[in-house]
Amino acid sequence: MTDALYLRYRPQTFEDVVGQKHVAVTLRNALRQDRIGHAYLFTGPRGTGKTSTARILAKAVNCLAEDVDARPDNACPICTAINQGRLMDLIEIDAASNTSVDDVRALIEKVAFAPSEARYKVYVIDEVHMLSTSAFNALLKTLEEPPAHVIFVLATTEPHKIPATILSRCQRFDFHRISTRQISEHLAEIARREGMTVSPEALGIIARSATGSMRDAISLLDQVAAYGHTEIDEELVRDVLGMVSGLAISEFVDALAEGDPAETLTRLHELIDKGVELSQFVNQLIDQLRTLLLLNVGKDPSLVDLPDSLLAKAQEQAAKFTAPQLLHTIRALTEAAQALKTPFAGYLPIELALLDALHLGETASVAPSAPPSAQKTAQGRAAPPPARPAAKPKPPPRRTQGSSPPPEKPMAAVDDELANIWKQLLRAMRRINPKLQAMLRSGEPVAIQDGKFYIRFRYEFHQNQVRAGVDDLNKGLSQVLGGPMEAVVLGENESPPASTESNTSPDANPNPGPHPHPDPASSLTDHPVVRRAVDRWGGKVQ
Ligand SMILES: [Zn+2]
Repeated sequence: MTDALYLRYRPQTFEDVVGQKHVAVTLRNALRQDRIGHAYLFTGPRGTGKTSTARILAKAVNCLAEDVDARPDNACPICTAINQGRLMDLIEIDAASNTSVDDVRALIEKVAFAPSEARYKVYVIDEVHMLSTSAFNALLKTLEEPPAHVIFVLATTEPHKIPATILSRCQRFDFHRISTRQISEHLAEIARREGMTVSPEALGIIARSATGSMRDAISLLDQVAAYGHTEIDEELVRDVLGMVSGLAISEFVDALAEGDPAETLTRLHELIDKGVELSQFVNQLIDQLRTLLLLNVGKDPSLVDLPDSLLAKAQEQAAKFTAPQLLHTIRALTEAAQALKTPFAGYLPIELALLDALHLGETASVAPSAPPSAQKTAQGRAAPPPARPAAKPKPPPRRTQGSSPPPEKPMAAVDDELANIWKQLLRAMRRINPKLQAMLRSGEPVAIQDGKFYIRFRYEFHQNQVRAGVDDLNKGLSQVLGGPMEAVVLGENESPPASTESNTSPDANPNPGPHPHPDPASSLTDHPVVRRAVDRWGGKVQ
């Protein structure tokens, strides 16, 4: 019982290979009709059965069983020798560690010799895309005129890296990612044969964590079993894998659905205090939101791999979000997951992503194009709701009691130019000051007037951070606009200095600038710096 589970349960026949029936059927037919090729290419993600199938093929073409359909019988001397790893005529090469042309030359020298015991010499080259160019050339020469007694099986996770001249000489089989359901069922069978007691929820978590790789799934089961518990349940699996409980994730999503930033951040910090691994948490959260998105858009529960016990709750949560909200939140969290990989990132990227997501939630729900009542009606029906733009909708002007209304919304063309400049600015800031750039993503550009670039932030935290980095920000602005420009940070209810000719009284504005401009909209496109920028990008000004 010292063998790894994964080795003990390595598939021994074509029918044992889970999730690749299309490959098994084709190879089985080729054997039956005695039409075995000289070169095969097995492509697909790791852990999907490529090298296992290659070994099974090596046994099948050499098996001594009378009945072709019984091959490989895993009983004859040849099959036994292969299963024990001692058949000279099966040559397994890991290209990741044998990339020098000398190794491949040595291989080719042996190709000319007849097999020592078996009918065919079978060469299995794993990760074949790792071969050097000269090694590929040597291989190509062999494939152009392969000896009758030789079969090559090339396996790779990255077929696009293989020269076309090689590809064209191979019969190609694409191995698919194995579904969570199939992995779960296979794990249950292994657990039964090993006498382990594993709950269906625990199997589901292991299967989902393996993301389509049977080898990873069996290794994870092995890892959990090594803890020596008589019963393996959800909690143990989560502990071993360093995961947050499904309940905690579900409660977190509830807080997100409520749209309460304080509650959401409090829950985040509770998890951080408990020592949760942040990138693992973000991945779980993304996974859960993806499930909600599938339910929200598709309405078909079979799209998601969830036990019935969790499905009802997920459907209830899915109805609390709009598809664009979920899409936007997933995008923001995916960016955060990326940002977490940089050293000293801390938890700021997650905080920003969550605040960003909540901010959108609020503006989307009051957007005139999508009244909540209309959404509710659409969600109540079986048909999916009408497609809505995935992009972040432009926030409508906010009108809060006790503060002055913002100036009239500028024309659409002006909006486009501002958005364009904003995009360029974010790109420039990534080089100048990445941390500040992350902050800026929570802001929205409001206007350019009188040599000032106005950016509005909802949260004081962001306002202060950006004000502290305003020198870098001005540097970025002058890079983008090709001239000096001063950044001005606005609070949630603040506006740029109002026009004296508009209906708004300047006195009502909480942040009047020293030089009020007569018309903010025309001032944007008239500004020489903006004009230059517009010319450079070929933008249109009406
Ligand atoms: Zn055999």
